Amino acid sequence: MSAASMEGNLPQLGNEITKQSFRRTAMVISGLLIGITVLAAIVGNGPGPEIRAFLPVCATLWATAEMLTAFLLLSQFYVAGKLSYALIGSGYAITGLLTAPYLFAFPGVVFSPPFTTGELQVSVWLWVIWHMTFPLAIGVTHLIDPTLEHRIVPRRAIGRVVFAIIGGTILFAVVATAIVYAFREHLPIIVLPGGHFSKQYSTFIAPGIVFANLIACAVVSRSLRRARALQLWVAVALLTSALDGALNATSHGRYTPSWYVGKLETLTTASVVLMMLLFEISTLYRRLFDVASIDPLTGLQNRRSLDSEMRGLMSELPTMQDGVAVLMIDLDKFKSFNDVYGHALGDDVLRTVSDVLRATASRPTDVIARYGGEEFVVLLPSTTLSGAERVAERIRLAVESTPIVLPDGTFKSITTSIGVAHARPMDATSADLLFSGADRALYSAKGSGRNCIATAVSVVSPTLDMPALI
Ligand code: GH3
Ligand code: MG
Ligand code: MG
Repeated sequence: MSAASMEGNLPQLGNEITKQSFRRTAMVISGLLIGITVLAAIVGNGPGPEIRAFLPVCATLWATAEMLTAFLLLSQFYVAGKLSYALIGSGYAITGLLTAPYLFAFPGVVFSPPFTTGELQVSVWLWVIWHMTFPLAIGVTHLIDPTLEHRIVPRRAIGRVVFAIIGGTILFAVVATAIVYAFREHLPIIVLPGGHFSKQYSTFIAPGIVFANLIACAVVSRSLRRARALQLWVAVALLTSALDGALNATSHGRYTPSWYVGKLETLTTASVVLMMLLFEISTLYRRLFDVASIDPLTGLQNRRSLDSEMRGLMSELPTMQDGVAVLMIDLDKFKSFNDVYGHALGDDVLRTVSDVLRATASRPTDVIARYGGEEFVVLLPSTTLSGAERVAERIRLAVESTPIVLPDGTFKSITTSIGVAHARPMDATSADLLFSGADRALYSAKGSGRNCIATAVSVVSPTLDMPALI
């Protein structure tokens, strides 16, 4: 496998095909946003309260969300080299960076009116640029290169691309701001003193923004049936950006209710991908935990997880009612079963035995683990020795009476031998002593002819202090 395709196999946030339920959630959210936009466009054009603090608060939130999204996407690009992440990240970085001069130029935020018409133009033209750059950065790159989804940058070039993107986005934001500021008197007038949007704005610029965002949304969501999470939520962000543009096209000016809704939609555009990435991080943490602690064949806890459970139980033992028991379970003559019926059927047997264990040691505090090849361990906290022996006997009987279906349709019974070790709360013992006690008992059950249980005589160490502490 080449280095590039290895990179492509690295897990990346938002890179898996989404579940249908997530696609439905995205559809419902999109439907709600469309509904809110239509409602705001119809009834939200009267004069509204002029809440000066609203924009700085909202813009700070959306700029923070955009910069965090850009950072997470560039970090993902840095670790796994997928070019589409870098490009989408740069789209977010540009919009986040442009928020600062937009806010700075917005009347009443830093400077108070009166303004010349030209100065009034600066913030609204910066708004236009970022609402165009975002769909262009994402849509055009996907249009030019439909294979972008799978394009991986070689490891050695990643650092340079990251620097180019950071430098390029900063340069773009600075140059765009400088141009808008320098030509503010000559740019078409799209906002009038008093904050009213002029006809020029509603006749060509705002529809252009809606169109650009909708086209980019259509390009990104071409294959929504097999959409990856990033693709799905970028499509929602672009749709929301289009709706935001549409609201501005129909809006009569700043501080109308529909203008406020538009700003909240900008916040949605800025944060949906961030939320998806944060959700994926939580899911990834869960998955890493499973990989580290779950046995893939049976779904039971693995040895590593068992050891950590055992450490926890041993620290609780001195205060635990009735003590703790360890059952060590080994399938009888399993090697010959594998030799005769094959490894695959052997694996089926291991899964069947796991199901029997789950059904038999069913207290929520019981711990069931695959200890090794065909050996299992069950930990029974707050259990007396006689209680543990009863559970062991129930397991033995349950396995014996669960027949395995052979390829020719006949049935075969599997048996187990079980070693039991038990420690009382006052016993000076340790995890090692309990495990070796259960192992010795298992050995003696095998020696007694198999398909039976045996109990360890003592798991107490004369050299350990009381009470048991490990
Ligand atoms: P005994 O009654 O003395 O336990 O006899 P045994 O044949 O079961 O002996 P032992 O416990 O040493 O056998 C282990 C066998 O378990 C070896 C291997 O064939 C089988 N085994 C171990 N891990 C797996 C596994 O993951 N899948 C399958 N199918 N078989 C396994
Ligand atoms: Mg065995
Ligand atoms: Mg064995």
